[in-house]
Amino acid sequence: MNEINDPTVVADDVVVTMEYTLTVNGEVIDSSEGTDPLEFLQGYQNIVPGLERELYGMKVGQSKKISVSPADGYGEVDMDAFLEISRSEFPDDIPLELGVELDLRDEDGEIMSATISKVEGDMVQLDLNHPLAGETLDFEVKVVGLRSPTEEELEHGHVHGHDHDDYDEDFDEEFIDAVDAEDEE
Ligand code: ZN
Repeated sequence: MNEINDPTVVADDVVVTMEYTLTVNGEVIDSSEGTDPLEFLQGYQNIVPGLERELYGMKVGQSKKISVSPADGYGEVDMDAFLEISRSEFPDDIPLELGVELDLRDEDGEIMSATISKVEGDMVQLDLNHPLAGETLDFEVKVVGLRSPTEEELEHGHVHGHDHDDYDEDFDEEFIDAVDAEDEE
């Protein structure tokens, strides 16, 4: 859809549709190729800061290679971001094995991803660092669409596309029950 008043360049409060390929250490680890391009609201850190910053001013059809340092990407590895939890605190249906990824929610309702980094006797160690912490991210992006957000999208600070679910789907409510999910829809 190209409305007459659609934005012409990437700017704050613009919904950007973008094809992308993410390469880390020479290996393609994520790409929109063969699937839907990424749609997001610019200016709300819905994507990593180093990538978002380089998109300002881009037009539809324009491509760019953007290299993002760990500090501007998913952060450096934080040695304090490891948690040790007793086996008995996990629901039965979670396999307690090295490398298993979990989503948990902290006291503020923020979603955190964790990876099981060690299992020793009754102790399960979770690594709360993002799996891409400490990595340089090499993006190749192409802007394929720009539009104005709906009022609701602007209010929420993110897009409400057909494949967007406000992250609730991935949240295992059994695991951390300290906070009720805020239903903002
Ligand atoms: Zn929302």
